[in-house]
Amino acid sequence: MGKLNDCFSRPAKMLTLNEAVARFSENIVSVCIAEEVELASAIGRITFSDVISSIDVPPQNNSAVDGFAVYHDDLNVSGSTTLPIRGRVVAGGNFVGNPERGQAIQIFTGAPIPHNTRGLSPDTIFMIEDVVVDGDKITLPEGQMKGSNIRMAGEDVKKGDTIINYGKRLRPQEVGILAAIGYSKVKVRAPLKVAIFSTGDEICDPGEKIRSGQIFDINRYSLMSLLKKLGCKVNDMGILPDDKDAIRESIRSASRNNDLLLTSGGVSMGEEDHVRTAINELGKIDLWKLLIKPGRPIALGHVNDDDREVPVIALPGNPVAVMVTFLRVARPLVLILSGSVDIHPNYFSIPSAFSLTKKKGRREWLRASLVRDKEDHLKVKKFPFDGSGILSSMVSSDGLVELSEDIVKVSEGDLVDFLPFSEVLN
Ligand code: AMP
Ligand code: MG
Repeated sequence: MGKLNDCFSRPAKMLTLNEAVARFSENIVSVCIAEEVELASAIGRITFSDVISSIDVPPQNNSAVDGFAVYHDDLNVSGSTTLPIRGRVVAGGNFVGNPERGQAIQIFTGAPIPHNTRGLSPDTIFMIEDVVVDGDKITLPEGQMKGSNIRMAGEDVKKGDTIINYGKRLRPQEVGILAAIGYSKVKVRAPLKVAIFSTGDEICDPGEKIRSGQIFDINRYSLMSLLKKLGCKVNDMGILPDDKDAIRESIRSASRNNDLLLTSGGVSMGEEDHVRTAINELGKIDLWKLLIKPGRPIALGHVNDDDREVPVIALPGNPVAVMVTFLRVARPLVLILSGSVDIHPNYFSIPSAFSLTKKKGRREWLRASLVRDKEDHLKVKKFPFDGSGILSSMVSSDGLVELSEDIVKVSEGDLVDFLPFSEVLN
């Protein structure tokens, strides 16, 4: 296990989102060890090291089409050319014979280009659709370029190429290219172990009998789902009461066998908000409150377990604030700890279909959907209600509009940064 530096040393003032992310990006390293997985179950895993190919792909020159292979020098410069057909080579097969000048060889897609005894091989292939076959003769049209329809050895991957860098989350195309270079297994990071807690005397687990004044636990379920999407191993620590000692002991016990602790609720200013105190008794709150909305009371800290510092992210309680702060504050941290190099999602600049004014100095997120106007141009429309407890707004939305600290006003038609959920929830 890697050792964490002082995760987040305490700033003098409230930080912006980017300042906070930069601070923790500098101070943490992945704690996930290497393991080998079968290629068939490698999707979504994060590479431990660069992957270098030890072969050329394709391994040999081969045909890109079904057709006929010839020497370009045998073709008439003007007018068609008629050649005898001498032999046939199929994909996965060997050519029997000697491909000499002055003849054509029938060849199929993926079949290797044969060589003759002097090491010469046909250099041009005609598609079957473009030629006229008459018995054992073939007539070829003029104008075919030398080298047509031949896939060269190593044109996709060259021996010695780095095909995937370390810290890359494997997508289907990466799994495919690993197969192309003959890997049956790949070295990846072990999943990050994350313990997750809800807090609050009013929180009741779905499936349990709910008492008057209680609500069902949302956050543990949305957060467990978010973490699973990122490939984490989730340890569900359940719901903690609003009791400092109970919270502290549960956090202490989870810190022993987890790489990251994630709580929600109990981090505001209220008398029943005990999470920060509990963390401070076991380690330190390094950072509390960010210049963001929703989710301002988020706290980042660490707890000590022997010589380890285990980071803790204490998210707010309101379910929308929980998801938004997870996606923009916790997710990059989870990714770095997991060994991923790509922590920044892609934003899209889309014209706004709404107008609003906003407080300067604070980064804000609006739940939003993509719509098309009368001219069929894409626009982004804001969900009508802003409450950070209204989770149905997330269900109805395609993503978030992110308004940076310097923005004070948005008018209809202004380009805004849109973060589709598909960018961060895939
Ligand atoms: P708190 O910061 O603990 O006061 O929580 C803020 C709001 O979020 C309160 O209305 C809580 O009831 C609500 N909340 C906290 N945790 C959860 C949870 N796990 N699921 C649903 N709502 C929650
Ligand atoms: Mg609470």
